[in-house]
Amino acid sequence: MIEPVVVMLGRGRVPVDTPLLRADDLGVLRGDGVFETMHVRGGRPWLLDEHLARMVNSAARLELPLPERSVLRELAETALRGWPADQEGALRLVCTRGPEWGGPATVFATLAPIRDATRLARAQGLTVATATLGFPVAVREGAPWLLGGVKALSYAVNMACQRWAAQQGLDDVLWVSTDGYALEAPTSTLCWLRDETLSTVPADQTGVLPGTTARWLLDHAADLGCRATEQLVQPEELTAADGVWLVSSVRGVAAVRELDGVALKPSPLTADLQRLAGHPI
Ligand code: PLP
Repeated sequence: MIEPVVVMLGRGRVPVDTPLLRADDLGVLRGDGVFETMHVRGGRPWLLDEHLARMVNSAARLELPLPERSVLRELAETALRGWPADQEGALRLVCTRGPEWGGPATVFATLAPIRDATRLARAQGLTVATATLGFPVAVREGAPWLLGGVKALSYAVNMACQRWAAQQGLDDVLWVSTDGYALEAPTSTLCWLRDETLSTVPADQTGVLPGTTARWLLDHAADLGCRATEQLVQPEELTAADGVWLVSSVRGVAAVRELDGVALKPSPLTADLQRLAGHPI
């Protein structure tokens, strides 16, 4: 088993068990910070520029000082040095607001192998249940403090949802708004196929995270003979779709094979989308 890598801004590579955070770090105390997770294949991060762009946007939304992109790029390069080309990895870049009692932002990178369960989901698909996120679809548009579209460190709700799914014997959750629209999953974006059109949920109207993987797939949908669009959808419509997927940088493309107890028919497009995204199966 390959060792995870940790790189701290200003300190370089350190052993993974090195204590790095102060007890008053606002990332720890309040989840106050931003992060990005990228897929590493062939020893390189996939869609690094897109992730850095989203991180810059997330930091701006939190009024958080983020190092220059060149500094973050260098941090990533330091983490990737010597990473075996045949080893899939997840590269995380993190920036917290730093110590509560004063001090600079805390910035570090981690790089670790992909978990077996993640790889298995690509091959076997996912069982998913809808779960409410507790507000109407459009609320985050007019409420910037709800941090729609921001990849903030505060993922406790996201992780609680995934634990809840596991307690039900399911693989994941699809969040829905109180007015009945599908949003996203706690760590991935919803995509579906209907009438040869690959769709995802519009981030600007809903506050879901604008997914880099979904963007890549929609931008290249024509290569698969599909149109691409962003639109709202209700879960009932998904059960009649020609394919439903949860996609993310690390997960890649995983077919939803069951939604709220209804078996969804396997889509021939799954293999094509997986090839397009380039994650090993
Ligand atoms: N939505 C949420 C809430 C996420 O945490 C993620 C993962 O980062 C995604 C969607 C998928 O985004 P991406 O494809 O950029 O990894």
